[in-house]
Amino acid sequence: MTQGMATQLPESVFPERYGGLNSLNKITGIYELSVPLEGDITNAVVNFSAHDVSLVAVVSNIIRFGRPVVGYGFNSIGRFAQSGILQGRMVPRVLNADSASLVSENEDFFDPAAISSIAMSNEKPGGHGDRAGALAALELAVWDLNAKLADEPAWSWISKCHATRIERLDVSTYAAGGYYYSTDSLARLGDELRRYRDLGFDGFKIKIGGASLEADLERIDTAVDLAGSGQRVAVDANGRFDTETAVRYLESISVRGLRWFEEPGDPLDFELLSQLSTMSDIPLATGENLFSVQDTRNLLLYGGMKPGRDVFQMDAGLSYGLTEYVKMLGQLESAGMNRNQCFPHGGHLINLHIAVGLNLGGCEAYPGVFGPFGGFSPACEISDGRVTPSDAPGFGLEEKPELIPYLNKLGEAF
Ligand SMILES: [Mg+2]
Repeated sequence: MTQGMATQLPESVFPERYGGLNSLNKITGIYELSVPLEGDITNAVVNFSAHDVSLVAVVSNIIRFGRPVVGYGFNSIGRFAQSGILQGRMVPRVLNADSASLVSENEDFFDPAAISSIAMSNEKPGGHGDRAGALAALELAVWDLNAKLADEPAWSWISKCHATRIERLDVSTYAAGGYYYSTDSLARLGDELRRYRDLGFDGFKIKIGGASLEADLERIDTAVDLAGSGQRVAVDANGRFDTETAVRYLESISVRGLRWFEEPGDPLDFELLSQLSTMSDIPLATGENLFSVQDTRNLLLYGGMKPGRDVFQMDAGLSYGLTEYVKMLGQLESAGMNRNQCFPHGGHLINLHIAVGLNLGGCEAYPGVFGPFGGFSPACEISDGRVTPSDAPGFGLEEKPELIPYLNKLGEAF
């Protein structure tokens, strides 16, 4: 993680009704719950049936409607709960800090950058791994808390804090799925994609690399037939291939003019990416397993990624939170990339608000899988391949019925 300074925002950011904090306002508790991920599904590398996620509550002493205002966050999907790192290291550091060090310079809000720096005290740099997800759950809960204090949806709060000009309130989305089924795989893939189409999606991403090239091409052709165009189908190898296999797949993907080829090889194998980059015009997508500004910089220096073509999928929930993510965006833009090339991995409400609030290219969606975190809430509208967040304060996690039992369970502590 890069070290952050305390943040100061222009006064115009705050709505008139928002009076900011005062010296008596503080964080009174931080609680973490490990929540099992629902889904016995498999990509080329991972089965998700034993995965879990850290759900974090940051509790303030500001009372509204008889209850403390609470921010919630979680560490996206795919990297397990981080209860040990949070409860043993990060949470005690924040709770033991002087309250004044956790708020912004003008006492306007709880400062995500300052809180991150305190949570990371005494941690060596580099080797990001699970620590990046642990801090992300905590840092994103602070964003949720601040948006709720301002009584705004998180996308609005995020856009003001980063002076984003939002052109429209909906963002492009696509249904990520297309997993492998143990029986009748091709017919079930077709059924799955038809279900997504009925939900309002007009683009899909399917898994490759878990079967032979021949079988995968049948899957790809099924998806292309249903989507109506190769441009509406992306494929994801989840880092499975060696160079020779990646090159073989690239040829078939190029012929079909697919939307993108995601994580062909090891996420840190920038040499392979740069080799593939010169062999075809097919967009390459990567970044969900890069967790820091420095990783992003190395990708830009050595991965052969091209402005206007390739796709960046870094996920704030896996990479120290929004503070670090915004710095990654800065790296991308200073290397000539456009933020409309960014489609964060994750497929959930937090990344939807981030995509809208930072005017990114879009946000993936996991309709019907990875509950209770995957997918959006019923109040979010999906049509013609675009999704609009609701106007609930914060990330709107309270509007997701599947999450309510877990939010209530966390709430027993405060
Ligand atoms: Mg992926």
